[in-house]
Amino acid sequence: MNLQERFLQYVMFDTQSSEETGTVPSTPGQRVFSEALAEELRGFGIADVRLDDMGYLYGSIPSNVDKPVPTIGFIAHVDTADAHPSPKKTPRIIASYDGGVITLESGAVLNPATDENLRRAQGCNLIVTDGFTLLGGDDKAGVAEIVTALEYLAQHPEVQHGKIAFSFTPDEEIGTSQDHFRVEEFGADFAYTVDGADFGDIEYENFNGASAVVTVQGVETHPGEAKNKMQNAVTIAMEFDRMLPVWERPEHTEDYEGFYHLMHMQGDCSTCTLRYLIREHDCQKFAKRKETIHKMAELLNFKYGAGTVQAEVKDGYRNMSEMVAPHMHLIDYAKEAISELGVEPRVPAIRGGTDGAELSFKGVPCPNLGTASWNHHSVTEVANVDHMEQTVQLILKIIEKYAAR
Ligand SMILES: [Zn+2]
Repeated sequence: MNLQERFLQYVMFDTQSSEETGTVPSTPGQRVFSEALAEELRGFGIADVRLDDMGYLYGSIPSNVDKPVPTIGFIAHVDTADAHPSPKKTPRIIASYDGGVITLESGAVLNPATDENLRRAQGCNLIVTDGFTLLGGDDKAGVAEIVTALEYLAQHPEVQHGKIAFSFTPDEEIGTSQDHFRVEEFGADFAYTVDGADFGDIEYENFNGASAVVTVQGVETHPGEAKNKMQNAVTIAMEFDRMLPVWERPEHTEDYEGFYHLMHMQGDCSTCTLRYLIREHDCQKFAKRKETIHKMAELLNFKYGAGTVQAEVKDGYRNMSEMVAPHMHLIDYAKEAISELGVEPRVPAIRGGTDGAELSFKGVPCPNLGTASWNHHSVTEVANVDHMEQTVQLILKIIEKYAAR
């Protein structure tokens, strides 16, 4: 089975995760897929394949060199986002893409004018859906690439390598995949998630993330008798929001620029609640942003009276760059390998979080590699088969570089 066939087979498994069920894995389809993966890997002659009762698949291929080489791990997630359903019919293959606009059956359009990855894909074989469902390249492209690389290693014992660890995890899309991930069971010194966008991308700088809940307590009176008595919680909440810099919103920021994002606002004259996401790459600026929220609450309490505004700030994920920076070989080897495959590596800053960030703080520095699929969580999701094959080569090259050093 070649990579394309493997990928097309994987995307037909319904592995949508769900925030509703509260089980681990959150949906039974994920376990069905992981069981099939375990069987496939054992079929390659890989002896160490372990599927735990929470649906986490771990395994390894032993070192075949007689010198110490760090154990390198590769991780992908088996679930797909619940934004749209999984494919109901076999996705469409576009052979040697001509560089034009692609119209899907649903009428959804992929336009190279607004899609850099699509412009880079001219002449390549692409895979798309009918436009009514996800493709599921996030992250089955990553799964198929890691499995294909493992198959190659199993069949080519002459390729020298250290111990290679792998793991396929459930429930990444609902943000709980790291909750039950067992670092010792995985056993890697360093790892890569294969869960990014196009081939050639290496990501190791992500946002620091926090959330803030601001609650305004108003004073309600009859509007006719409100003078010097009423304090309208909604207008005070609006005042709070207006104190934040307009240009530090998601819609006005890019690259390394952080933001405050007002996600939700609800209330009436008596109480009003604002919910924010706070995002920033730089640690110090991140701390400053969180402090700003508290200071603004203090100022409004000075103006309207103690207890009017209450701000609660909660930390979410952290920027993994500080954990990866002491081990820049992870980035350098990946960059070298991508260049050797004839592509200019790109190292974009992630404007979100990643599983690798959490893993990096658990002691396994873990940058993220592109999967050669993109437009994730959308019906216009697309995979580039040629670039997927290059991603397999990239995984193998990284493994060889660690064995050779
Ligand atoms: Zn993903």
